[in-house]
Amino acid sequence: MLKFIRYSFLIVVILFFCSWGFHAHRTINKNAVYVLPSEMNSFFLNHINEIEERSVLADKRRYSDSTEACKHYIDVDLYGVSPFDSVPYHWFKAKEKYSEDTLISRGILPWAIYWEYKNLVSAMDSGCVENVIKHAADLGHYVADACVPLHTTFNYNGQFTNQRGIHSLWETSIPKSFSGDYDYYVGKYVYLPDPLDFSWGLIKESFALVDSTLTLERKLTEDYSKDGKYRFKSKNGKIGHQYAYAFVSDYHSLLDGMLERRMQRAIFAIGSFWYSAWVDAGKPELKELRSVEEFNKLNKTGDVSPKRIHE
Ligand SMILES: [Zn+2]
Repeated sequence: MLKFIRYSFLIVVILFFCSWGFHAHRTINKNAVYVLPSEMNSFFLNHINEIEERSVLADKRRYSDSTEACKHYIDVDLYGVSPFDSVPYHWFKAKEKYSEDTLISRGILPWAIYWEYKNLVSAMDSGCVENVIKHAADLGHYVADACVPLHTTFNYNGQFTNQRGIHSLWETSIPKSFSGDYDYYVGKYVYLPDPLDFSWGLIKESFALVDSTLTLERKLTEDYSKDGKYRFKSKNGKIGHQYAYAFVSDYHSLLDGMLERRMQRAIFAIGSFWYSAWVDAGKPELKELRSVEEFNKLNKTGDVSPKRIHE
Protein backbone atom coordinates (compact mmCIF):
# COMPACT_ATOMS: atom_id res chain seq x y z
CA MET A 1 0.00 0.00 0.00
CA LEU A 2 2.81 2.33 0.97
CA LYS A 3 4.42 1.59 -2.35
CA PHE A 4 1.16 2.44 -4.11
CA ILE A 5 0.87 5.76 -2.25
CA ARG A 6 4.44 6.66 -3.14
CA TYR A 7 3.80 5.69 -6.75
CA SER A 8 0.62 7.78 -6.88
CA PHE A 9 2.50 10.70 -5.41
CA LEU A 10 5.16 10.31 -8.07
CA ILE A 11 2.54 10.37 -10.80
CA VAL A 12 1.03 13.56 -9.40
CA VAL A 13 4.47 15.17 -9.20
CA ILE A 14 5.34 14.16 -12.76
CA LEU A 15 2.05 15.46 -14.07
CA PHE A 16 2.61 18.75 -12.31
CA PHE A 17 6.06 19.30 -13.74
CA CYS A 18 5.71 18.14 -17.27
CA SER A 19 4.15 21.05 -19.08
CA TRP A 20 1.09 23.16 -19.62
CA GLY A 21 -1.88 21.35 -18.19
CA PHE A 22 -3.60 19.03 -20.64
CA HIS A 23 -6.42 21.54 -21.16
CA ALA A 24 -3.96 24.26 -22.27
CA HIS A 25 -2.04 21.90 -24.60
CA ARG A 26 -5.27 20.88 -26.31
CA THR A 27 -6.42 24.49 -26.66
CA ILE A 28 -3.07 25.58 -28.09
CA ASN A 29 -2.75 22.76 -30.66
CA LYS A 30 -6.36 23.15 -31.77
CA ASN A 31 -6.07 26.90 -32.32
CA ALA A 32 -2.77 26.56 -34.20
CA VAL A 33 -4.78 24.94 -37.04
CA TYR A 34 -6.45 28.32 -37.72
CA VAL A 35 -3.06 29.96 -38.30
CA LEU A 36 -2.43 27.86 -41.43
CA PRO A 37 -2.89 28.86 -45.10
CA SER A 38 -5.83 27.50 -47.10
CA GLU A 39 -3.70 24.82 -48.85
CA MET A 40 -3.03 23.18 -45.47
CA ASN A 41 -6.07 24.25 -43.56
CA SER A 42 -8.59 21.66 -44.80
CA PHE A 43 -6.31 18.67 -44.05
CA PHE A 44 -5.62 19.97 -40.54
CA LEU A 45 -9.28 20.83 -39.95
CA ASN A 46 -10.26 17.30 -40.98
CA HIS A 47 -7.87 15.97 -38.32
CA ILE A 48 -8.35 18.69 -35.72
CA ASN A 49 -9.65 16.27 -33.06
CA GLU A 50 -6.59 14.03 -33.39
CA ILE A 51 -4.26 17.04 -33.35
CA GLU A 52 -5.97 18.16 -30.16
CA GLU A 53 -6.07 14.76 -28.46
CA ARG A 54 -2.51 13.84 -29.40
CA SER A 55 -1.21 17.15 -28.02
CA VAL A 56 -0.73 15.55 -24.60
CA LEU A 57 0.81 12.22 -25.66
CA ALA A 58 4.36 13.53 -25.30
CA ASP A 59 3.69 14.03 -21.58
CA LYS A 60 2.06 10.62 -21.21
CA ARG A 61 5.06 8.96 -22.90
CA ARG A 62 7.22 10.05 -19.99
CA TYR A 63 5.87 7.10 -17.96
CA SER A 64 7.04 4.53 -20.47
CA ASP A 65 10.02 6.15 -22.18
CA SER A 66 12.98 7.23 -20.04
CA THR A 67 14.38 9.40 -22.85
CA GLU A 68 11.25 11.57 -23.02
CA ALA A 69 11.36 13.79 -19.91
CA CYS A 70 14.41 15.86 -20.88
CA LYS A 71 12.72 16.96 -24.12
CA HIS A 72 10.22 19.15 -22.25
CA TYR A 73 12.52 21.73 -20.64
CA ILE A 74 15.94 23.34 -20.53
CA ASP A 75 17.50 24.71 -17.34
CA VAL A 76 19.03 27.74 -19.01
CA ASP A 77 20.32 29.27 -15.77
CA LEU A 78 22.70 26.34 -15.22
CA TYR A 79 24.78 27.70 -18.11
CA GLY A 80 26.12 30.77 -16.29
CA VAL A 81 25.34 34.47 -16.42
CA SER A 82 25.11 34.74 -20.22
CA PRO A 83 23.59 31.37 -21.07
CA PHE A 84 22.53 32.31 -24.59
CA ASP A 85 26.10 33.27 -25.44
CA SER A 86 27.53 30.20 -23.72
CA VAL A 87 25.49 27.34 -25.17
CA PRO A 88 26.16 26.66 -28.86
CA TYR A 89 22.79 26.54 -30.63
CA HIS A 90 23.71 23.45 -32.63
CA TRP A 91 23.49 20.09 -30.90
CA PHE A 92 26.86 18.72 -31.99
CA LYS A 93 28.72 21.86 -30.97
CA ALA A 94 26.87 21.99 -27.64
CA LYS A 95 27.66 18.31 -27.08
CA GLU A 96 31.33 18.92 -27.77
CA LYS A 97 31.40 21.76 -25.25
CA TYR A 98 29.31 20.26 -22.42
CA SER A 99 29.01 16.47 -23.10
CA GLU A 100 25.78 14.74 -23.99
CA ASP A 101 25.11 13.65 -20.39
CA THR A 102 25.29 17.24 -19.15
CA LEU A 103 22.96 18.49 -21.87
CA ILE A 104 20.46 15.72 -21.16
CA SER A 105 20.57 16.33 -17.40
CA ARG A 106 19.75 20.03 -17.98
CA GLY A 107 17.04 19.41 -20.57
CA ILE A 108 17.18 19.49 -24.37
CA LEU A 109 13.96 21.29 -25.34
CA PRO A 110 15.25 23.54 -28.20
CA TRP A 111 16.85 20.57 -29.94
CA ALA A 112 13.80 18.35 -29.32
CA ILE A 113 11.71 20.95 -31.17
CA TYR A 114 14.16 20.98 -34.06
CA TRP A 115 14.31 17.16 -34.34
CA GLU A 116 10.54 16.90 -34.23
CA TYR A 117 10.38 19.58 -36.91
CA LYS A 118 12.65 17.44 -39.11
CA ASN A 119 10.43 14.43 -38.41
CA LEU A 120 7.43 16.41 -39.60
CA VAL A 121 9.20 17.49 -42.79
CA SER A 122 10.03 13.82 -43.54
CA ALA A 123 6.48 12.70 -42.74
CA MET A 124 5.02 15.31 -45.11
CA ASP A 125 7.58 14.46 -47.74
CA SER A 126 6.86 10.73 -47.69
CA GLY A 127 3.11 11.15 -47.44
CA CYS A 128 1.57 9.09 -44.61
CA VAL A 129 -1.37 10.71 -42.81
CA GLU A 130 -0.77 9.13 -39.40
CA ASN A 131 2.89 10.17 -39.31
CA VAL A 132 2.03 13.75 -40.23
CA ILE A 133 -0.58 13.96 -37.46
CA LYS A 134 1.72 12.31 -34.92
CA HIS A 135 4.70 14.57 -35.55
CA ALA A 136 2.59 17.74 -35.96
CA ALA A 137 0.96 17.07 -32.58
CA ASP A 138 4.26 16.26 -30.82
CA LEU A 139 5.94 19.30 -32.35
CA GLY A 140 3.03 21.42 -31.09
CA HIS A 141 3.57 20.02 -27.61
CA TYR A 142 7.27 20.84 -27.41
CA VAL A 143 6.82 24.31 -28.94
CA ALA A 144 4.09 25.05 -26.37
CA ASP A 145 6.41 23.93 -23.56
CA ALA A 146 9.07 26.34 -24.82
CA CYS A 147 6.61 29.19 -24.22
CA VAL A 148 6.39 28.44 -20.47
CA PRO A 149 8.87 30.47 -18.37
CA LEU A 150 9.20 27.77 -15.69
CA HIS A 151 10.34 25.26 -18.34
CA THR A 152 13.54 27.25 -18.75
CA THR A 153 14.87 27.35 -15.19
CA PHE A 154 16.28 24.88 -12.66
CA ASN A 155 14.00 26.55 -10.08
CA TYR A 156 11.09 25.18 -12.10
CA ASN A 157 8.77 24.69 -9.13
CA GLY A 158 10.02 27.49 -6.89
CA GLN A 159 11.70 24.79 -4.81
CA PHE A 160 14.76 26.97 -4.15
CA THR A 161 12.78 30.10 -3.26
CA ASN A 162 10.13 28.63 -0.96
CA GLN A 163 7.44 28.80 -3.67
CA ARG A 164 6.83 25.13 -4.16
CA GLY A 165 3.72 24.56 -6.28
CA ILE A 166 4.12 27.60 -8.53
CA HIS A 167 4.70 25.39 -11.59
CA SER A 168 1.19 23.96 -11.66
CA LEU A 169 -0.26 27.25 -10.41
CA TRP A 170 1.05 29.06 -13.51
CA GLU A 171 0.55 26.49 -16.23
CA THR A 172 -2.42 24.45 -15.02
CA SER A 173 -4.56 26.28 -12.45
CA ILE A 174 -4.61 29.62 -14.26
CA PRO A 175 -5.35 28.30 -17.77
CA LYS A 176 -8.04 26.02 -16.35
CA SER A 177 -9.81 28.94 -14.67
CA PHE A 178 -9.23 31.78 -17.13
CA SER A 179 -8.15 30.59 -20.58
CA GLY A 180 -11.79 30.34 -21.69
CA ASP A 181 -11.85 34.15 -21.87
CA TYR A 182 -8.63 34.54 -23.87
CA ASP A 183 -8.47 35.75 -27.44
CA TYR A 184 -6.85 33.12 -29.66
CA TYR A 185 -6.83 35.09 -32.86
CA VAL A 186 -3.12 35.49 -33.55
CA GLY A 187 -3.04 36.26 -37.26
CA LYS A 188 -1.34 34.15 -39.91
CA TYR A 189 1.75 31.94 -40.06
CA VAL A 190 5.20 33.07 -41.12
CA TYR A 191 7.89 30.96 -42.78
CA LEU A 192 10.74 30.16 -40.37
CA PRO A 193 14.00 30.19 -42.33
CA ASP A 194 15.91 28.84 -39.30
CA PRO A 195 13.63 26.70 -37.10
CA LEU A 196 16.37 25.92 -34.57
CA ASP A 197 17.13 29.59 -34.10
CA PHE A 198 13.41 30.28 -33.67
CA SER A 199 13.20 27.57 -30.98
CA TRP A 200 16.01 29.25 -29.08
CA GLY A 201 14.21 32.57 -29.50
CA LEU A 202 11.09 31.16 -27.77
CA ILE A 203 13.25 29.84 -24.91
CA LYS A 204 14.92 33.22 -24.59
CA GLU A 205 11.58 35.04 -24.37
CA SER A 206 10.31 32.58 -21.75
CA PHE A 207 13.49 32.79 -19.71
CA ALA A 208 13.19 36.59 -19.61
CA LEU A 209 9.83 36.10 -17.82
CA VAL A 210 11.12 33.77 -15.08
CA ASP A 211 11.99 36.61 -12.74
CA SER A 212 8.56 38.29 -12.84
CA THR A 213 6.81 34.91 -12.67
CA LEU A 214 8.53 34.20 -9.35
CA THR A 215 8.68 37.73 -7.94
CA LEU A 216 4.98 38.48 -8.41
CA GLU A 217 3.97 35.27 -6.67
CA ARG A 218 6.31 36.03 -3.77
CA LYS A 219 4.88 39.55 -3.38
CA LEU A 220 1.32 38.27 -3.46
CA THR A 221 2.13 35.61 -0.86
CA GLU A 222 3.25 38.38 1.51
CA ASP A 223 -0.26 39.84 1.29
CA TYR A 224 -1.94 36.54 2.09
CA SER A 225 -1.94 34.61 5.32
CA LYS A 226 -1.10 30.93 4.83
CA ASP A 227 -4.75 30.05 5.40
CA GLY A 228 -5.88 32.50 2.76
CA LYS A 229 -3.40 31.34 0.12
CA TYR A 230 -4.46 27.72 0.32
CA ARG A 231 -7.70 25.88 0.53
CA PHE A 232 -7.44 22.90 2.81
CA LYS A 233 -9.57 19.88 2.19
CA SER A 234 -9.80 16.42 3.57
CA LYS A 235 -9.80 13.42 1.29
CA ASN A 236 -9.73 9.80 2.40
CA GLY A 237 -9.00 10.90 5.95
CA LYS A 238 -6.03 13.04 4.94
CA ILE A 239 -5.70 16.80 4.81
CA GLY A 240 -4.45 18.14 1.51
CA HIS A 241 -4.25 21.66 0.17
CA GLN A 242 -4.51 23.54 -3.07
CA TYR A 243 -4.35 27.23 -4.01
CA ALA A 244 -7.45 29.20 -3.05
CA TYR A 245 -9.35 30.56 -6.03
CA ALA A 246 -8.83 34.16 -4.83
CA PHE A 247 -5.05 33.62 -4.83
CA VAL A 248 -5.09 32.10 -8.32
CA SER A 249 -7.22 34.97 -9.55
CA ASP A 250 -5.05 37.67 -7.94
CA TYR A 251 -1.88 36.08 -9.31
CA HIS A 252 -3.45 35.93 -12.74
CA SER A 253 -4.27 39.66 -12.53
CA LEU A 254 -0.77 40.52 -11.34
CA LEU A 255 0.73 38.67 -14.31
CA ASP A 256 -1.17 41.20 -16.41
CA GLY A 257 -1.91 39.12 -19.49
CA MET A 258 1.31 37.08 -19.48
CA LEU A 259 -0.55 33.76 -19.71
CA GLU A 260 -2.72 34.90 -22.59
CA ARG A 261 0.30 36.30 -24.45
CA ARG A 262 2.33 33.11 -23.98
CA MET A 263 -0.57 30.95 -25.19
CA GLN A 264 -0.99 33.23 -28.21
CA ARG A 265 2.72 33.06 -28.88
CA ALA A 266 2.62 29.24 -28.72
CA ILE A 267 -0.31 29.11 -31.17
CA PHE A 268 1.41 31.41 -33.66
CA ALA A 269 4.73 29.56 -33.32
CA ILE A 270 3.15 26.12 -33.83
CA GLY A 271 1.23 27.26 -36.92
CA SER A 272 4.45 28.73 -38.30
CA PHE A 273 6.44 25.55 -37.61
CA TRP A 274 3.79 23.42 -39.33
CA TYR A 275 3.67 25.77 -42.30
CA SER A 276 7.48 25.86 -42.62
CA ALA A 277 7.69 22.06 -42.44
CA TRP A 278 5.18 21.86 -45.30
CA VAL A 279 7.20 24.35 -47.39
CA ASP A 280 10.46 22.51 -46.62
CA ALA A 281 8.81 19.24 -47.68
CA GLY A 282 8.14 20.82 -51.09
CA LYS A 283 4.47 21.79 -50.47
CA PRO A 284 2.88 18.34 -50.85
CA GLU A 285 -0.82 18.06 -51.68
CA LEU A 286 -1.99 17.12 -48.20
CA LYS A 287 -5.30 15.74 -49.46
CA GLU A 288 -3.28 13.08 -51.30
CA LEU A 289 -1.60 11.72 -48.19
CA ARG A 290 -2.31 8.05 -47.59
CA SER A 291 -3.40 6.05 -44.58
CA VAL A 292 -0.71 3.94 -42.95
CA GLU A 293 -2.04 0.64 -44.45
CA GLU A 294 -2.18 2.07 -47.95
CA PHE A 295 1.19 3.71 -47.45
CA ASN A 296 2.89 0.46 -46.34
CA LYS A 297 1.31 -1.51 -49.20
CA LEU A 298 2.35 0.99 -51.86
CA ASN A 299 5.76 1.55 -50.32
CA LYS A 300 6.74 -2.00 -51.37
CA THR A 301 6.03 -1.27 -55.00
CA GLY A 302 7.61 2.15 -55.44
CA ASP A 303 7.34 5.83 -54.79
CA VAL A 304 4.33 6.93 -52.76
CA SER A 305 5.24 10.57 -52.31
CA PRO A 306 2.34 12.94 -52.80
CA LYS A 307 2.21 15.40 -55.68
CA ARG A 308 3.56 18.88 -55.03
CA ILE A 309 1.56 22.05 -55.35
CA HIS A 310 2.85 24.12 -58.26
CA GLU A 311 2.64 27.88 -58.10
ZN1 LIG B 1 5.56 18.72 -21.81
